[in-house]
Amino acid sequence: MLAAFDGALPDEGADPVAVVEELAATADVGLSGNVGPRFFGFVIGGALPAARGADLLTGVWDQNAGINSLTPAAAAVEVVAGRWAVDTLGLPAGSTVGFVTGGMMANYSCLSAARHSVLARAGWDVAARGLFEAPRVRVVVGRYRHDTVDRAVRYLGLGQDSVVEVDTDGEGRVSTPSLEAALAAGEGPAIVCLQAGEVHTGAFDDFAAAVPVARRYDAWVHVDGAFGLWAAASPSYRHLTLGLDAADSWATDAHKTLNVPYDSGLAIVRDPTALAAGFGVETDYLIGAAGDPMERVPEFSRRARGFAVWAALRSLGRDGVAALVDRLCATAGMLAKGFEEIDEVEVVNDVVFTQVMFRLATDERTSEAGRRLLADGTCVVTPAVWHGRAVQRCAVSNWSTTEADVARTVDAVRRVVAGL
Ligand SMILES: *Cc1c(COP(=O)(O)O)cnc(C)c1O
Repeated sequence: MLAAFDGALPDEGADPVAVVEELAATADVGLSGNVGPRFFGFVIGGALPAARGADLLTGVWDQNAGINSLTPAAAAVEVVAGRWAVDTLGLPAGSTVGFVTGGMMANYSCLSAARHSVLARAGWDVAARGLFEAPRVRVVVGRYRHDTVDRAVRYLGLGQDSVVEVDTDGEGRVSTPSLEAALAAGEGPAIVCLQAGEVHTGAFDDFAAAVPVARRYDAWVHVDGAFGLWAAASPSYRHLTLGLDAADSWATDAHKTLNVPYDSGLAIVRDPTALAAGFGVETDYLIGAAGDPMERVPEFSRRARGFAVWAALRSLGRDGVAALVDRLCATAGMLAKGFEEIDEVEVVNDVVFTQVMFRLATDERTSEAGRRLLADGTCVVTPAVWHGRAVQRCAVSNWSTTEADVARTVDAVRRVVAGL
């Protein structure tokens, strides 16, 4: 693709229609089918029709969403869509929501609020004084947290050495006794990062047990729920998130489970002043609580991301969000059942949500099956290593995946395994 696009910038411009046509023609073979119903790699999501339409409008309207007075519609929609998300996720009313690019920046934004808050409780104003000579902040995380938590810690200047790793169980859930031991073993301000939806297994930390432990040590509790937070929106899966609402901040993607087009994440923080402490633009950051959208996110000027989130939630309604979550989970269950019926194939995780991992008799055969499956082209699953063994990993995150897609995918795996 680089060769296809390569070349020096021409001196002469070109007709805009010709440029767009050239772009479409050249890019075509390098585009991925990741919005398709049998794309199960990574955790990619899909695009609900209403959200796709709103996203197109967003591009055409081209609003700068940072400032209330400049783009009142964009600002108002973020307030309302944020409130809807908080409500449907069962999080505390009045929590503030920053519309960011994705889970990475949602984790970053929430941990920025956390850093401010735990240092303020230790008598240190990080906004004014920075981190030099500040009390050391401990960031206590499970062994299987997402890499973006570590990146956020580095962006925030807390340093990788501040990360304290806690043991997890076979499904990647934080062990509460290990969490307690880690908190007891150190001292000073602490942030505990829990997880709603582990990327391999889909497992949820035991919030009801872990949050009270973190509270005893006066820690800020952050939850990375990039795709899993939405379990809280479904009466059938809400039990996985019991105690989740007692945390201080929650990071999630709209572009995964909610099926909003890229780029769209939500940074949700219980205490509105804590987000504004890092991102406020006034000397007195407290006005940020009711201030401009830019005071809830790291960016200044940006795209009006709220429109597509609003449209997704408006088109689904509360019941539709629950039904979407239920359908993704049911689809994962069907995939798992189909895989298990294939000779030699073993599903290795407890399929509680949308993630399914399988393997064959040996790592070599698992990896080879993955390569052949990609070459076959029926579906995309991605390779991973779980507890030291090669696996193939599926994430069900697209609203448009049907039972027929499941059947075709299972058939493809059966065909590939039989041909090994
Ligand atoms: C995808 C994911 C992230 C990162 O989100 P982006 O939208 O890719 O920035 C963080 N945590 C978890 C658990 C994820 O699945």
